[in-house]
Amino acid sequence: MPYLPVVTGPCKSGRPIDETSQPVSASLNALGYKGSMSKILIIFGTRPEAIKLFPVIRALAGVPGLTVRTCVTAQHRGLLDQVLAIADLAPDIDLDLMEPGQTLDRLTARLLTGLGDVMDAERPDLVIVQGDTATAMTGALAAYYRKVPVAHVEAGLRSGDIYHPWPEEVNRRIVAPIAALHLAPTETSAEALRRETIAADTIHVTGNTVIDALHWTSAKVAEDPALAAGLDSIAARFAGKRIVLVTTHRRENFGDGMAAIARAIGRIAARDDVAVVFPVHPNPNVVSVMDTILGDRGNVARIAPLDYPHFVRALGMADIVLTDSGGVQEEAPALGKPVLVMRETTERPEGVAAGTARLIGTGEDRIVAEIFALLDDEAAYSAMARAHNPFGDGHAAARIAAIVTDFLAAGTTPEAAPSNSTGTAAHADRD
Ligand code: UDP
Repeated sequence: MPYLPVVTGPCKSGRPIDETSQPVSASLNALGYKGSMSKILIIFGTRPEAIKLFPVIRALAGVPGLTVRTCVTAQHRGLLDQVLAIADLAPDIDLDLMEPGQTLDRLTARLLTGLGDVMDAERPDLVIVQGDTATAMTGALAAYYRKVPVAHVEAGLRSGDIYHPWPEEVNRRIVAPIAALHLAPTETSAEALRRETIAADTIHVTGNTVIDALHWTSAKVAEDPALAAGLDSIAARFAGKRIVLVTTHRRENFGDGMAAIARAIGRIAARDDVAVVFPVHPNPNVVSVMDTILGDRGNVARIAPLDYPHFVRALGMADIVLTDSGGVQEEAPALGKPVLVMRETTERPEGVAAGTARLIGTGEDRIVAEIFALLDDEAAYSAMARAHNPFGDGHAAARIAAIVTDFLAAGTTPEAAPSNSTGTAAHADRD
């Protein structure tokens, strides 16, 4: 069933979006948009990109006359496929670039050439990338080499430290000067872009599409609990216990940090009143440490990565979330779940400012102390357990669809751009 995008709120910069609820197609008709030849290429490669882009793909799919093509690089094959299945998405192009143990430079080179070839074949009028991955960075660069405009979803997140998160902080900074449309999730991220002298009228505050994905998936699970029934046995096994949901996968935490996290989880799970639900990221740097240090414990359910409906249910079951993930930092506040973030810095300060998230680093004693404080001090728990939506209201995708189609309708594709066919911009060696 096509998703009907509905614009429900103001866009805080650039052209204001009509606040009355109306399909994107209606606003396009009003602009005289024929949608005759515009083609959008949406590129993604990892689980979080898929989660955050499926609402956008669904919103754009409702626009008549607009051709939307999707290309997955499969930077994270297994985790990406889980999301595609649940969102009922079949990508048009699958580069399948996953290699075991791939280095960043090799991955980057393969992505850049692979995506460049796709763009030469597809000749899109606009490329959409999301976030801060190597796929987003190379997708933007390949588009730039062909002078194809880029829309950057989740633009403007900054930690201020190029090594935390690494290499994501630099990936997203590389996209910034290239993008023609900066789709910032919050006012904080929009302000970060303005500080970098990005033109204000190209920055739009849309909310984060992860909240759209969360709402959509929660509704699906509520309608059909069988979608997340794989957690029934864990829910029964841990009934009556306080549940700590753990995810960890950050590169910066590999090694000593991961070992400290494993020891801390062991100490937390030693309490009778607590259970740990831990979907373990498949990266060998995570799995091997957890095997060696954490091992099997009665109060710990170490499980395979959950598909999104199961993860959304796990978030709902949790009393406390312990994570180093970016996306989980955004989802937990929307559900009123206290989230302890195992990082020194965050490019998502909104959850901390709202009081739902706290940065605690990866020291073993600190992790244990922070969890115990929340478990044992009701006032401290209640102070953090308040539902906020600092990252969006669940209508970001509709705003993005309207902004993107507005951009295409205005014919803002660079005048000076050579044809985006092979044989012009592709021959960089001549430039
Ligand atoms: N997630 C999931 N299953 C899991 C763990 C996480 O679906 O077992 C989702 C989570 O809800 C969030 C996203 O994956 O939307 C975060 O991905 P990840 O932590 O891999 O990347 P990051 O957000 O740190 O870039």
